Amino acid sequence: MNAGDAAISTAKKHIEQNDFSSRNNELHVGDMAVSELMERSKGRPFYAYDRSIMSRNVEKLRRALPERISLHYAMKANPMPEVVRHISAATKGIDVASAFELRTALSTGIAPRDISFAGPGKSQEDLDAAVRAGVIIVIESELEAQRVSALANSSGVTVPVAIRVNPDFQLKASGMKMGGGSQPFGVDAEKIPLLLRNLATEPLEILGFHIFSGSQNLRPESIIDAQRQTLELAERLAPGLPGPLRWLNIGGGLGVPYFPGDQPLDLEPIMSELQSQLTRHAELLQETEVVMELGRFLVANAGIYVCQVIDKKESRGKTYLVTNGGLHHHLAVTGNFGQVIRKNYPVAIANRITDDDLEQVTIVGPLCTPLDLLGQEMLLPKARVGDLIAIYMSGAYGYTASPHQFLSHPEPAEFCL
Ligand SMILES: *Cc1c(COP(=O)(O)O)cnc(C)c1O
Repeated sequence: MNAGDAAISTAKKHIEQNDFSSRNNELHVGDMAVSELMERSKGRPFYAYDRSIMSRNVEKLRRALPERISLHYAMKANPMPEVVRHISAATKGIDVASAFELRTALSTGIAPRDISFAGPGKSQEDLDAAVRAGVIIVIESELEAQRVSALANSSGVTVPVAIRVNPDFQLKASGMKMGGGSQPFGVDAEKIPLLLRNLATEPLEILGFHIFSGSQNLRPESIIDAQRQTLELAERLAPGLPGPLRWLNIGGGLGVPYFPGDQPLDLEPIMSELQSQLTRHAELLQETEVVMELGRFLVANAGIYVCQVIDKKESRGKTYLVTNGGLHHHLAVTGNFGQVIRKNYPVAIANRITDDDLEQVTIVGPLCTPLDLLGQEMLLPKARVGDLIAIYMSGAYGYTASPHQFLSHPEPAEFCL
């Protein structure tokens, strides 16, 4: 199969997998045709998220996850309040990384003890808000531990905390490594015993550990390996705790297929291996809430980004579709959000879903930079000015992970349907 056929088959696969439905040759989100949504957004590019797809994702996980695992939503993947409310109705908890995210999480009515606040460089405002709300503060450094202790002493409350551990192993073959080696995240595993001794007399309720090694992993054997080492590390560190291990966040890292050739993760081997690990460490985990935190796995395939063709031109043998959407709205699709090599996301001409008169096009945005590339040399139904371009797999790290003000075009709209 050549690259163009691969692109087409990826787009067709997404349609066939029924992540989004199409009727009358047009893509729909819920009951809304994308052209209706474009009217609603008054011509601005938009993101649209489908609640039923998010629900399906959570359901699928629930069925696979060991029963005792608490599923948390890492809301930085998509912090739109409607999305967070929808997902949190089906998950046990939420992980936040700023005071603003914390407010959104609290607004869902989820119990403060089911909200954890992680992330390096928490401001005094962040810490104040977290202590006031009574959520679990995930301590990312020795100095942060001192700050939280000072706050606990001055406010006269016992503050629930967990320690983020920078593990002494790495998640292999991960899209983003966030643990192992030298890291700005967490406290190195070998420094944890001393830190725990130093905190022993502080008014902190040290519940346990947060061990997150990376994300966007599509290899079951790497994830299984990381989970095994995570539990072994917890076993080694737990004796330093003032009491039993009450809370253990084992991270997540489950990846989603973005590109041609990516296979969806097979959850079965991961979860059955996790279950045996939990059994192996049953004594350690007697009084432990074991948390798994996921972002993109719950939302990525539930979102599309839609923009409109403004111009169509030829340049020395290549055809360009110039759209009103681009890098400023959707940094990740242009390959500039942590990707090593740029690859095409699955794309459709949203109002020509079943057309089979194809041509090879390169889709770009309106920004004056060669980085503003939405799709490179893709074989798609022949598009005209005014047609709508839909980019699949846009439900995570889209809207809020993009530099909206670059070149000062209008912001995209967001719909949760
Ligand atoms: C970003 C992040 C996540 C979510 O990662 P996904 O790949 O979206 O699942 C989970 N935990 C922590 C600590 C994170 O920083």
